Amino acid sequence: PLQRNIEEIRSEFPVLHQEINGNPLIYLDNAATTQKPASVVESLADYYHRDNSNVHRGVHQLSQRATAAYEEARVKIANFINAEHIHEIIFNKGTTDGINIVAYCFNNKFLKSGDKVMISAMEHHANIVSWQLFGQEKGVGLSVIPILPSGELDMEGFKSMLTEKVKLISVTYISNTLGTINPVREIIKIAHLHHIPVLLDAAQAIAHMSIDVQELDVDFMVFSGHKMYGPTGIGVLYAKEKWLEKMPPAQGGGDMIKQVSFEKTTYNHLPYKFEAGTPSISSAIALGTAVDYIKRIGMDKISDYEHDLTTYLIRELNTINDLRIIGTAKHHAGSVSFVIEGCHNSDIGELLNQQGIAVRTGHHCTQPLMEIFNIKGTVRASLALYNTHSEIDELIRGLKNAIHILKS
Ligand code: PMP
Repeated sequence: PLQRNIEEIRSEFPVLHQEINGNPLIYLDNAATTQKPASVVESLADYYHRDNSNVHRGVHQLSQRATAAYEEARVKIANFINAEHIHEIIFNKGTTDGINIVAYCFNNKFLKSGDKVMISAMEHHANIVSWQLFGQEKGVGLSVIPILPSGELDMEGFKSMLTEKVKLISVTYISNTLGTINPVREIIKIAHLHHIPVLLDAAQAIAHMSIDVQELDVDFMVFSGHKMYGPTGIGVLYAKEKWLEKMPPAQGGGDMIKQVSFEKTTYNHLPYKFEAGTPSISSAIALGTAVDYIKRIGMDKISDYEHDLTTYLIRELNTINDLRIIGTAKHHAGSVSFVIEGCHNSDIGELLNQQGIAVRTGHHCTQPLMEIFNIKGTVRASLALYNTHSEIDELIRGLKNAIHILKS
């Protein structure tokens, strides 16, 4: 089990070994971004030291090497999520970029006034605003799956809202704020009975559980490299070939074309049709290294270990007076939000920081969700594979200190 190797794992993350305000860093902001193992950082440096060149255009050796490494990363990602075709993997900037691309292309090709895109009440702003941005002017509305007080989706509500107006369902796999793991398998099954495609925002899931896009039968899936031990500036849009073939490209530029004239342009084949311009080559390659890293540790082991840690975190938080966990779903990921009566979330965050503990505070890019729970924000502790039970003990001690200071 992971627990036995935890010191070895931690030694692979140089950033973890530092002091903040005179205390050892305890990093519990993994839902915002994860830390990077040395192998990922090294692969960025190696690329720039040895292979740096532009991809796809060069006959020279550096370009060939860069291209091979970039395309090898695509194969790693395709295998990681079990895509049927390598060309169903589109590199982009991240989850936000991926949702925006689908929102733009899908609206452009398939949606008309009166149509609806269904999201849920727990979506990140990226999965709300993108649809408004590209749909609103056209008269494409949002339909919002409600949630229960536990922070779980109201599945009966969901089923009753599936009208012929709903043309796409775009939901998060795991809520970044509540930690709820949504029943996406069931959602996709039901959606497909109504011939509605589904986009999964896997930003919070991709580093924490195995995902098999063919088994899920999901139509679109997006995630960010930086939340899975990879670099920033790189993300993935997975889409079934049939959708990528039917949708127009989102951007024009180099690499995405076959033939250009002033009268007419034809587009390149997949995946390049959706990758205009020079991509983030080094980050894509390093994301491939992050996938290698996760595979080396083993996703099942990671999931089991994090599940254990999450159970411990929730149990310990519940021992603190006046602390209320927001989001008590049965299937809970390692992102845990809470409020403490009489204490502002940002004061708690600041006092934890003074003790070397990094958490996130605020609305977590889910303002509508805050409104539903009638709160301004939460404190969120979110776990990754390198966190330990003793770090959770320190968090609890730190929280008690902070509450003592704020209430005395
Ligand atoms: N969706 C969810 C569920 C997220 O947690 C995040 C990141 N907080 C995003 C979308 C946006 O990801 P990015 O900022 O990497 O584009």
